[in-house]
Amino acid sequence: MTSAPLLSVRDLRTWFPIRRGVLARRVGYVKAVDGVSLDIMPGETVGLVGESGCGKTTLARTVMRLDPAHDGSVCFQGKDLLTCSATTTRALRRELQIIFQDPFSSLNPRMTVMEIITEGMLEHGLIAGRDKRDAAQTLLDEVGLGSHALHRYPHEFSGGQRQRISIARAVSLRPRLVVCDEAVSALDVSVQAQIINLLGDLRAQHGLAYLFISHDLSVVRHIADRVAVMYLGRLVELGATADVIDRPRHPYTRALVSAIPRVGGSTVERTVLQGDVPSPARPPAGCRFHTRCPHATDRCRTEDPVLRTVKADVPGRTVACHLAEELG
Ligand code: SF4
Repeated sequence: MTSAPLLSVRDLRTWFPIRRGVLARRVGYVKAVDGVSLDIMPGETVGLVGESGCGKTTLARTVMRLDPAHDGSVCFQGKDLLTCSATTTRALRRELQIIFQDPFSSLNPRMTVMEIITEGMLEHGLIAGRDKRDAAQTLLDEVGLGSHALHRYPHEFSGGQRQRISIARAVSLRPRLVVCDEAVSALDVSVQAQIINLLGDLRAQHGLAYLFISHDLSVVRHIADRVAVMYLGRLVELGATADVIDRPRHPYTRALVSAIPRVGGSTVERTVLQGDVPSPARPPAGCRFHTRCPHATDRCRTEDPVLRTVKADVPGRTVACHLAEELG
């Protein structure tokens, strides 16, 4: 790995205005992403985990410029995607691709597989029209679909096969970073494993980096080099995957880790979180997790913990909890 991050997100905020009344006056914000900083190195896979509604998909959509940022920066290959020109954005977007959870709704039902996976290459001038078939064939081989798929339509495939088509489309432009937004969540467990293996093979083959988003830590641990845990718009823990899973320091991460199914009898006591994630329109004061944390103290109710390195941890391992030392 080189020392310069491929993607560098700094203090990113994605706030959606809440409007009321006939004049649609702004009365507040839904703070879906509220001060997230995260780096992804070339060739690295970072898993982003958290419950539904924690802001991880909004973070991905903001990085892709599908949702507008309120504040902060998203530097990709050294250029801020939030402020650079349309021409630069277009050039950079070729190297930054996304795979969505539902491949059916993200694939045009009226286009054949060959048209879907070569559309971007033609648009960016990477191939000529006469090379379409060969390029499509190569891509289908890469994702484990035969040439029989070329002239068929998305509805003729299973969920796993459709996700392979989405992956072929994403890698067709030879990106450097692929955002996988719950890309395997809708698939059966056995198909999930196949898609994760495929993503791993493509990473090795093309030196891809991934931002792999999932609500399921047991899926993320199979593919991610590092894990970032998100709760109510903020990162609460970050570190090497094995380290975070073996020694979770934040009570929220502990609860997620305790839910991972284990083979051969678990020694980890299951922690079931009480209550729902609070509304991002009215995040609790102090630590945002204090309304559900079994260890919350008076300090937690008033003082917002920052993401910091705990003394005994390796640099790069960070946690946002006042009691990280005591609980770790
Ligand atoms: Fe729990 Fe307090 Fe740590 Fe927040 S700061 S996670 S409330 S112990």
